[in-house]
Amino acid sequence: MLVQNYWFTTLLEKQYATCPPLLKNMECDVLVIGGGMSGVACAAALQGKGLKVVLLEKNILGGSSSGRSAGFLTPDSELELSQLVRRYGVAGANEIWEVPVKGIDLIKNNVEKFNIDCDFRVQDSLFLGIGKSGEEDVKAEFECRKSVGFTNQEIYNKQELDKLVTSTGFNAAVCYNQTYGINPLQYLQGMKNVLLENDVKIYENTEVKKIENDTAYTHAGSVKAKQIVVAIDKMENDFNPLAKDVFHAQTFLSISEPLSDSELKTLFPFGTEFQMWDSTLVYSYFRLLKGNRILLGGGNAASTFLPNAWYHENVIKGVHKRFKSHFPFLKNLNFTQYWPGLIDTTRDLLPTIVKDPINKNLHFIMGVVGLPWASFCGNFVAENILGVAEEENKKYYEYFTSRRYFAFPSFLQNILGKPTLFALNNGWAKYYQVDKNHLPAKMENEF
Ligand SMILES: Cc1cc2nc3c(=O)[nH]c(=O)nc-3n(C[C@H](O)[C@H](O)[C@H](O)COP(=O)(O)OP(=O)(O)OC[C@H]3O[C@@H](n4cnc5c(N)ncnc54)[C@H](O)[C@@H]3O)c2cc1C
Repeated sequence: MLVQNYWFTTLLEKQYATCPPLLKNMECDVLVIGGGMSGVACAAALQGKGLKVVLLEKNILGGSSSGRSAGFLTPDSELELSQLVRRYGVAGANEIWEVPVKGIDLIKNNVEKFNIDCDFRVQDSLFLGIGKSGEEDVKAEFECRKSVGFTNQEIYNKQELDKLVTSTGFNAAVCYNQTYGINPLQYLQGMKNVLLENDVKIYENTEVKKIENDTAYTHAGSVKAKQIVVAIDKMENDFNPLAKDVFHAQTFLSISEPLSDSELKTLFPFGTEFQMWDSTLVYSYFRLLKGNRILLGGGNAASTFLPNAWYHENVIKGVHKRFKSHFPFLKNLNFTQYWPGLIDTTRDLLPTIVKDPINKNLHFIMGVVGLPWASFCGNFVAENILGVAEEENKKYYEYFTSRRYFAFPSFLQNILGKPTLFALNNGWAKYYQVDKNHLPAKMENEF
């Protein structure tokens, strides 16, 4: 198996031009640093508003987490609805759920409006329960969705599921719509052309080394800006001391050879494709791509919390084995490429959005988990800069503030180490955390 991000392979057929690096000193109204989903969404919301906007990206747009991701566009992420209901109550959970829903809408609207060729696919979601406990998880998820007023879900028992997906070991499933699949790297490269056409200046292969007052410095140039948005991953503490509160969760992806027509017909007998994930703690997830290849992701408990990328193929081979045990008719399917990726995340899985306490024109988007979330957060910061949607956005302040309550304080990482502290927090947030009694006091102009 090749260790190679498949989305990069698909770029070869598209041949997007790379933007040259920054080799001069310049000035602008808004500088966006980081060209992942957050940074691109921010720049997209700022374009065409009469502002001079510059975007600096260390790699190519989509060159880190966003362009390595599996491209599932679903509000359901590491932060499941049931967790949100426990943590914030029904009203709070509804409010937070709107975040990824709006994020998906923004992406979908861009794909449609700008006709971006990025294998955008309608793929309803199937949450698959493994064994008896998985069946209980599925029922709980279904009831939870009903309790917050959602009406777009169906629950299937084993026999009903068999009509949709040929598999073994899944005892039940919840299905819901308005979820999609996307080639995230092609989407961001497509958005690059849109931004360029709208006069956003983009410099790829341009790493920001430091920010001093109103100026960001790169190796061979600088940008002075009235407002600066930092939407970078794997941030160093020099940029913002809160960077130490960003942790990493590792997951692995792999890509199969194309399915034959008969394998495809067996997989989806009804002719409708789904994106799917299972009920285990370190879950596997899979969906169909252009060319009828399977994109399969997952990991294991040990690899999830490793601080650095781990390239050994043992982890993904374990994921393949589990997948084939559920789809025995695909036992001879080859997976040709795989790649690992580290997702930036905070301790409680909600993003942190802050302004620098001294320089109020310096904004940070940190620890965003999920493409829809990133799309929302970039747009959110742009709206705050533009001064639009102020009242609407205020309700999110208490969720995104760095002042929110964390069960395990960050100084514990000096004793336990960063991966252990994150594993503890992650488990706590998933199973026990209750935030509604700890909401921070509202602060005007925090964002
Ligand atoms: C393997 C994997 C699978 C995933 N699957 C999914 C999925 O299916 N669905 C989903 O919703 N989410 C998924 N995620 C999570 C999702 O990809 C991220 O949460 C999201 O992309 C974060 O977007 P971002 O823009 O905040 O960060 P990033 O995409 O990491 O963007 C940050 C950008 O900043 C740039 N940068 C960093 N430092 C500097 C600097 N000093 N100067 C200039 N630029 C800099 C980086 O190169 C990068 O392009 C997955 C993640 C991984 C790793």
